[in-house]
Amino acid sequence: MRLSQFHLATVKEVPADAEITSHRLMLRAGMVRKLASGLYTWSPLGLRVLRKVEAVVREEMNRAGAIEMLMPSIQPKELWEETGRWEKFGNQLLKIKDRKEQEFCYGPTHEEVITDFARNELKSYKQLPINFYQIQTKFRDEIRPRFGVMRAREFLMKDAYSFHLTPESLNETYEVMYQAYSRIFTRLGLKFRAVQADTGAIGGNASHEFQVLADSGEDAIAFSDGSDYAANIEKAEALAPATARPAPAAALQRIDTPRVRTVEDTTAHFGTTPDRILKTVMVRGVNGLVALCLRGDHEINEIKAGKLAELPGDSVLASEEEILAATGTRPGFIGPVGLPDSIPVIVDRSAAVLADFICGGNANDTHYSGANWERDARITRVEDLRKVVAGDLSPDGQGVLHIARGIEVGHVFQLGQKYAEALKATVPDDQGKPQVMYMGCYGIGVSRIVAAAIEQRHDEAGMIWPEPMAPWRIAVCIINQRNIPAVTEAAEALYQQLSERGIETVLDDRGLRPGSMFADMELIGIPHRVVVSERGLAAGTLEYRARDQAENRTITIDELWALLG
Ligand code: ATP
Ligand code: MG
Ligand code: MG
Ligand code: MG
Repeated sequence: MRLSQFHLATVKEVPADAEITSHRLMLRAGMVRKLASGLYTWSPLGLRVLRKVEAVVREEMNRAGAIEMLMPSIQPKELWEETGRWEKFGNQLLKIKDRKEQEFCYGPTHEEVITDFARNELKSYKQLPINFYQIQTKFRDEIRPRFGVMRAREFLMKDAYSFHLTPESLNETYEVMYQAYSRIFTRLGLKFRAVQADTGAIGGNASHEFQVLADSGEDAIAFSDGSDYAANIEKAEALAPATARPAPAAALQRIDTPRVRTVEDTTAHFGTTPDRILKTVMVRGVNGLVALCLRGDHEINEIKAGKLAELPGDSVLASEEEILAATGTRPGFIGPVGLPDSIPVIVDRSAAVLADFICGGNANDTHYSGANWERDARITRVEDLRKVVAGDLSPDGQGVLHIARGIEVGHVFQLGQKYAEALKATVPDDQGKPQVMYMGCYGIGVSRIVAAAIEQRHDEAGMIWPEPMAPWRIAVCIINQRNIPAVTEAAEALYQQLSERGIETVLDDRGLRPGSMFADMELIGIPHRVVVSERGLAAGTLEYRARDQAENRTITIDELWALLG
């Protein structure tokens, strides 16, 4: 590709609402542009990377014996009523009507559609097992779309669905998919972990999430240093023995509640006035300071809006800034904690005024109260209020748990018969008797992977693509201020040679100053860069730089071929 004939639109400034590195870099590089909340246009540059990911996913799915197809993104209400999910799926389901007032949704996932397809298409147990997949756009009306394409509303997913006569057969395909996913993320050059996940409301036997390791990840994962044990934090907690860790000074009470919405709801649930509202976090100092620390779009807004009077008389509702003003200390920690709707505790040891406080923190639909930290205790985040912490014994008894943060890029799930039962998807067995099929589903966030890779691999100058994801493998930069034809010709010739060898090359023929040109190539993360210049031409050498190395090297063309393999 000649850059002069491409659309590369890098920018220096990024919108202030880009909170994490990948979002900032994708905007600076011009890979995506925001159309509206959670909706992004992929520029030609961004699309090159997205297609690379897609190609690896497709290759490995095919290799694993899955069969590609394509289902509509718009799905009829009636089908979703058959599984009960028209109501149950909740507000993430975008519902729409056509001109005849018929109702549809924009597919957030495709279990209904594929099971409908399977019940009509599959006529015999002999056709099983079979594994269908598609790479297709999903829409989920996320409560908090954020971090750009990482948590978008419209996004690209690879979703596969397998059908079986027996649970054993499902197990086999599940294992095949697990291995295929491991190959995909290994090939993409990402550091990841497969972790056990909860099967939750769907039931089923097994579920694993594939998590790309990154400090900015929204998920927390626990893994053992003495065995293969790894689980997301919810699953690890569900299995953790109660004695895994000494309880805090006062008994930590866990109260399962539906989402608490208002002060009245809270009062009804806890039977007390809301000095114990634990949506977000409450911290109460003996000297009367109460800090409700919050961020985001929470119930607390309702409290602020007029219910302040219902809090104890000596309470203060505090934002981060207000705590700073009252205590002279900035609260110790604020940041994503892996629970979409929960808020970290923000207390700092140096805030002497907050000594001997009582605090609580919550997760979705679960509230903790009554933890009494001693003077000078430091609570950094909601995780600290949970049962599983780093240093706990691994649930399998082997090794000690470590906690890391991850980005969920893939999810495999044994669905069992739930959907096939609801939709009456059966095949005749060898006796001719109809059998409800067993199903597995396997998702990969194709567009999320692009952002996750950047989170894991970047430096101050920009992205550092693993080669299989890079928009081009090598950049040929021309430095030719004196406009010497031989220099341009040499660069063109090199570009041709590279292209003929099947090496994806971008020729920077925009005529920019070297500084701007290099900054762009580093920002967009091209793995290899060579400079063709008057000086190099005279010496018969090229100036080479690998994106992940700090030093330039002077090399010959043969050395370049060797480098590129
Ligand atoms: P999350 O926990 O991040 O909300 P999920 O568990 O709801 O994801 P799944 O239903 O398991 O997502 O979907 C399969 C994959 O699709 C996820 O593993 C993730 O990589 C991707 N994905 C889900 N939601 C989004 C989104 N809003 N934006 C981009 N990718 C997404
Ligand atoms: Mg989700
Ligand atoms: Mg998830
Ligand atoms: Mg998931």
